[in-house]
Amino acid sequence: MHELGVVFHVIDQIEELAEENKLTEVSTVTLQLGEVSAVIPEYLVDCWNWAVKKHEIMKECKLNIEKIHAVTYCEDCKETYATVEHGKTCPHCGSEHTYLVTGNEFLIKEIEAC
Ligand SMILES: [Zn+2]
Repeated sequence: MHELGVVFHVIDQIEELAEENKLTEVSTVTLQLGEVSAVIPEYLVDCWNWAVKKHEIMKECKLNIEKIHAVTYCEDCKETYATVEHGKTCPHCGSEHTYLVTGNEFLIKEIEAC
């Protein structure tokens, strides 16, 4: 499962951060997740709740997910539009010369210690 790999990766990073900052317990982690980042938030939370129990400093750690709206830019008409509704084709002019501006993020925004 893709989400599980993602969760392990995040936990590794947080454990490193916790060690550097001498934290003994991490209570909340906030992730920023783009709308089209190929990670399904519901699966991510399930994997998270299972995986954190195996890590002493994160046993009670909650996961907050901030979704980032996906926006695509059209090079032909210089407009932006919502990616989820329209995909790769610009709804303003029908061009396919478009690229994703935001929406593919997967970032640890902040961690909170007790
Ligand atoms: Zn366009």
